[in-house]
Amino acid sequence: MRYEAPESLEGAVALLAGATGETRVLAGGTDLLVQMRADIVDPELIVDIKRIPETRAVTQEKGGWRVGAAVTGAELKDHPELKKVWPGVVEAANLIGSTQVQGRATLGGNLCNGSPAADSVPALIAAGAVATLAGPKGKRDLPVEDVMLGPRQLALQKGEIVASFLLPPRPSRSSDAYLRFIPRTEMDIAVVGAGVSLTVDGAGVITAARVSLGAVAPRVLLVSEAAQAIIGGRLDEPAQQRLEAAARAICRPIDDKRGTTEFRTDVAAVLARRAALIALDRARTN
Ligand SMILES: Cc1cc2nc3c(=O)[nH]c(=O)nc-3n(C[C@H](O)[C@H](O)[C@H](O)COP(=O)(O)OP(=O)(O)OC[C@H]3O[C@@H](n4cnc5c(N)ncnc54)[C@H](O)[C@@H]3O)c2cc1C
Repeated sequence: MRYEAPESLEGAVALLAGATGETRVLAGGTDLLVQMRADIVDPELIVDIKRIPETRAVTQEKGGWRVGAAVTGAELKDHPELKKVWPGVVEAANLIGSTQVQGRATLGGNLCNGSPAADSVPALIAAGAVATLAGPKGKRDLPVEDVMLGPRQLALQKGEIVASFLLPPRPSRSSDAYLRFIPRTEMDIAVVGAGVSLTVDGAGVITAARVSLGAVAPRVLLVSEAAQAIIGGRLDEPAQQRLEAAARAICRPIDDKRGTTEFRTDVAAVLARRAALIALDRARTN
């Protein structure tokens, strides 16, 4: 096994594009190293991206925030401005594992591990985040909801890596929230996850919203019908019921010992409503 730690995106891309055997990007390693120890993957080349400045930076750009793919949950939590503007994204990243795991686990790794239950992904999708990919043909942008195609399947081409995420500019009175259900208090994989981001006007009417659900389908879903159900109103009881119905309608979850199809569908509806109420409450004072 060969280990490389290039200091530029171009260097990382050249290594990955030029390799003939199995390759893996290494960010925090909290998924990859576990999978290697369990003999699930056996890469010939590992490209550590943590020495690449673009993957490690959090910067303001075009009124929004660009977050490097190898920034950890713990680093996001320590960023007061980001936490104020995108509390849902930051709280989602900090539900991953334990304090120790959060010190290593990155947004890019959470997305590129390709799990439909990844905690930060619904929050990023609800936020309208765009992934910037670096590859042999240069850079391209892809909405986060289009990066994952199914379990362990990504839209990345050979040699491509996620370099960073762009969180869009935030109008005033906007906020977000992420909630998940797990059978215990921490260190578990989401049975369902729900992210909601919204904006209200001065009268408290929701003018924009995005809703995303995790662990209820082979990929994390953007649920436009759920957003439409709450835009134009104040999230009164009928709107909450419409939101729940839209969330329920899109669910096609697995049925296993951690949650039956029926249970996951019910929980998705409840979490979508609760996340929307939290986001609304935050938006009113933001
Ligand atoms: C004890 C424990 C608890 C956990 N709890 C949770 C949890 O509660 N919620 C949750 O969602 N996850 C959880 N996880 C899984 C894991 O911590 C997360 O998915 C984490 O975000 C992965 O990030 P990483 O930087 O460690 O990724 P890595 O392990 O470095 O990489 C993961 C995968 O993505 C690829 N990759 C990484 N970065 C990039 C990139 N920039 N471009 C292209 N490919 C890339 C790697 O090649 C690899 O295939 C847990 C893991 C452990 C060990």
